[in-house]
Amino acid sequence: VSAWSSLRASTAYADLLAVSERLGRDPLQVQGPGGNTSLKENGAMWVKASGLWLAEARARDIMVPVDADALTAALHEDTPDVAFVPDGESASALRPSIETSFHAALPWPVVIHTHCVATIALAVRTDAETVIAERLGDLGAAFVPYVKPGRDLTRAILAHSAPATRVIVLGNHGLICCGDNPVSTETLLRTVSTRLEPHALPEPGTIDPHLADQLAGTDWMPAPAEAQPLARDPVQLGFAGGATLYPDHLVFLGPGVAIADHDDVGTATEQAARLSPPRRLLLFPGRGAAIPKDSDAGTKALARALGDVVARIAPGAEVNRLTQEQEADLLNWDAEAYRRSLSAAS
Ligand SMILES: [Zn+2]
Repeated sequence: VSAWSSLRASTAYADLLAVSERLGRDPLQVQGPGGNTSLKENGAMWVKASGLWLAEARARDIMVPVDADALTAALHEDTPDVAFVPDGESASALRPSIETSFHAALPWPVVIHTHCVATIALAVRTDAETVIAERLGDLGAAFVPYVKPGRDLTRAILAHSAPATRVIVLGNHGLICCGDNPVSTETLLRTVSTRLEPHALPEPGTIDPHLADQLAGTDWMPAPAEAQPLARDPVQLGFAGGATLYPDHLVFLGPGVAIADHDDVGTATEQAARLSPPRRLLLFPGRGAAIPKDSDAGTKALARALGDVVARIAPGAEVNRLTQEQEADLLNWDAEAYRRSLSAAS
């Protein structure tokens, strides 16, 4: 019996799947295939596969075996993560998540990473490090300024944390919590999220029926209700209307948002559809937010997420946004070609 198969047969593994499913079904923690969880023991690790949903943790096999010690030892090399999937241990061709290296390198049996909206609403602020120290100082929380997910981020996490660190806030990205077992680690993560929630939560959004009627004749439809205030609340429009705030927004919705500058809904949606790279969240100032009718579940989840995040950013806060170089890097574009494509569109 291998170390991976005995770990997979453990109670802790079953607990990890239950915790993963619960967090994956909570849109305030995980959106689409975002977030990931892991369990490891003596270098044998199970981690969520790339592109799969934590919400499906018990409905299908979403976990991949990884040699955590070998991956940690290779942290300064550029060997692909899939090279650390041990021969004969994986029943599938799944690839480990792009974020696998920090799961391997953090010295705790359980690592849980979510795109907690309350955390992101603070982690985009220019004063995030100070605010995190105030709210989570007694938990020994570490703050890591934005770095592209992958081994560079893992090295930055190790540089900004200590072996005993259990709470790590990732600038313009999300939250990592570590622990001895899945249930206590989820409890810690929920504690952190609750502390970072603003005192007064915003009113839930509603869809303007008049805008919905006008969109009916186009290739677009109203965005989820939570995203509607992005267009109607001037403060939220200010936060939403700039460049990208966090990586998954870019991946699912394109850079930033499109803002309709035409009263005619048909013309505005046609203009938005011509932007390059495409923008899949279109805001009609004062009226509401729209997404393409062919949006998949991930796109809908990330449209909702922007509403959930922005509604939690303190009015007047200064925010960091991803630069064009950081966007190009996330999309695997050549930076110069990306810049040209953006300027051609605007
Ligand atoms: Zn992430």
